[in-house]
Amino acid sequence: MANVLVFAESRAGELRKVALEAVTAARRLTELSGGGAVHVLLAGAAGIGSKAEPLAAHGADKVLVLEHAGFALHNPEALAATLAQLLSSGTYAYGLFSGTSHGRDLSPRVAAKLGVGLIPDLTGFTVENGAVVGQHPINNGKVIATLALSGSPTLLSVRPAAFTPAPAERALVAESITSAADPAASRVKVIELKQGNTDKIDLNDAAVVIAGGRGLKVADNFKLCDDLAEAFGNAAVGATRAVTDEGWRPHSDQIGQTGRNVSPDLYIAAGISGAIQHLAGMRTSRTIVAINKDKDAPIFKIADYGIVGDALEVLPVLTEAVRAAKAS
Ligand SMILES: Cc1cc2nc3c(=O)[nH]c(=O)nc-3n(C[C@H](O)[C@H](O)[C@H](O)COP(=O)(O)OP(=O)(O)OC[C@H]3O[C@@H](n4cnc5c(N)ncnc54)[C@H](O)[C@@H]3O)c2cc1C
Repeated sequence: MANVLVFAESRAGELRKVALEAVTAARRLTELSGGGAVHVLLAGAAGIGSKAEPLAAHGADKVLVLEHAGFALHNPEALAATLAQLLSSGTYAYGLFSGTSHGRDLSPRVAAKLGVGLIPDLTGFTVENGAVVGQHPINNGKVIATLALSGSPTLLSVRPAAFTPAPAERALVAESITSAADPAASRVKVIELKQGNTDKIDLNDAAVVIAGGRGLKVADNFKLCDDLAEAFGNAAVGATRAVTDEGWRPHSDQIGQTGRNVSPDLYIAAGISGAIQHLAGMRTSRTIVAINKDKDAPIFKIADYGIVGDALEVLPVLTEAVRAAKAS
């Protein structure tokens, strides 16, 4: 039996899609290991336990609910202490995190406390002779390293959107637990969570990402990306660093080496040259469509479909086509 403990991310009291992706990855891990239970740690302020149902619906055998005002916002020290305590109990062969900014902050703290290894940001994995063998993009995503890690417990994180949440219905079993460290005593204090577009889908949660580059010329032309995103419905708008440096879009929209990592089902790059630093954040997308006036633009080398043309003309045509397809 190889049981897995998953850390489920929530934000502002709501479960994030990456939490369901992590549970799906954990179920896969137990299957590859010959069976085992998936337990999930869900931490937050009072009431977070009421958000546990989708975790069970995606295959969590038990949800460990940690409610405390000190977990209303990310609290890496107290969470790391609690996760380390749970993972050192001998119950779990694996600890699984999301490869988000919170997961990247939390998982190495847990690994250091336990003195065990961590394979981060996996886009896929298998299990060979008890060792996790996973794919981890390096060198800005140009190289996919295959890493093997054994030991107990083995810690890993999975890249957002690399695993599609799959229903695996379980009856909800929830257990209240307490923190291994006083959440109020943490030296790291997150005092405020500033969310950009609260009414829009987060880049990591979107099935479709429409990204705009300097080729869109002026900030106002991003309305064309917003329109296309709205037509899809399950889409978010991203940008290159050239764009965020210009102040056309907020930094939180930046995709790439010094921005966000995304792996949506569909990535539409409009007026983006395809600099290696941008590719680092999106090249694992399932299908990439590039729109660029320059037929030799590097983005076409990694695109599944290329449209040589003016993005300001092509985007409205795509928007109309998506609207028409949805209406029919
Ligand atoms: C340390 C470091 C970190 C970096 N991190 C990041 C990062 O995280 N993310 C990131 O994106 N960049 C990053 N960069 C910057 C990166 O190197 C590029 O400068 C940037 O990605 C270019 O953005 P762009 O494609 O929008 O602009 P450009 O390179 O200027 O490309 C614009 C493209 O638009 C095309 N175009 C022009 N007009 C039209 C039109 N009307 N219709 C269609 N196409 C048109 C042009 O042919 C061109 O290919 C980083 C750089 C460094 C040095």
